[in-house]
Amino acid sequence: MVYIKRVELSHFKSFGGTTSVPFLPGFTVVSGPNGSGKSNILDALLFCLGLATSKGMRAERLPDLINNNNSNNRNASEASVSVTFDLSDLAEVGIQELSSSEESQENNNGHHPITSNEWTVTRRLRVTKAGTYSSTFYINGEPCNATELHEQLNRLRIYPEGYNVVLQGDVTRIITMNSRERREIIDELAGVAEFDRKIEKRKILSNRFEIEKNDISLSNKNYSDRSNVWHRIASKPRNIRN
Ligand code: ATP
Ligand code: MG
Repeated sequence: MVYIKRVELSHFKSFGGTTSVPFLPGFTVVSGPNGSGKSNILDALLFCLGLATSKGMRAERLPDLINNNNSNNRNASEASVSVTFDLSDLAEVGIQELSSSEESQENNNGHHPITSNEWTVTRRLRVTKAGTYSSTFYINGEPCNATELHEQLNRLRIYPEGYNVVLQGDVTRIITMNSRERREIIDELAGVAEFDRKIEKRKILSNRFEIEKNDISLSNKNYSDRSNVWHRIASKPRNIRN
């Protein structure tokens, strides 16, 4: 099992400075008055792992995620979130493969040094004065693209369509689902749905192969029919008059 050890937010939504939220072993509860930023921590998690669109993080556009309490501040044009996972439970994934070089581990954006059992994903969002924006993902301080990140997250069984993050309203939705829909969630969580998708893909491929095979034998038949006709024409005695 993979655990989240901490989430570090810088200039993200209501978090003006840099705040590190530790998730200690057991059960962590974040409490506070309405509008104090509890859900923003989950939004930060979704943002960092690239698991949701900006709407899924309750923002119209990605730049709206940058803290706007002090818009004159130069820092306000950049937000970043780091999520550090504890992989000590997960020998079979091959921690060495997931970790990058020691140098980049020391680097880690100048924040917490990464121990061998830790794996840190960072996403940084920058908005230019012209209003354009760019976002970059990092694994243990090394830049990577979204596809590479998702491949690694898949290896850790963290899926965008999974239920690693249960948002406000999801519980009610699950309770009011019919049993078939609920079964689909269980299949997804157990990894059965992934196998079903693979079987379905194989079936489509093998059907396509069958169709192409039939096409080939049909064209072979046409060819041999035609060649028989030519053969008959060629072997027919003809009267050639000059
Ligand atoms: P509730 O208990 O009602 O669910 P909450 O603790 O989950 O509240 P959040 O929804 O996390 O609260 O935070 C909402 C607050 O975040 C609002 O006060 C909003 O103004 C602030 N906020 C959202 N985006 C930004 C931003 N870009 N800059 C500054 N503050 C922001
Ligand atoms: Mg909330």
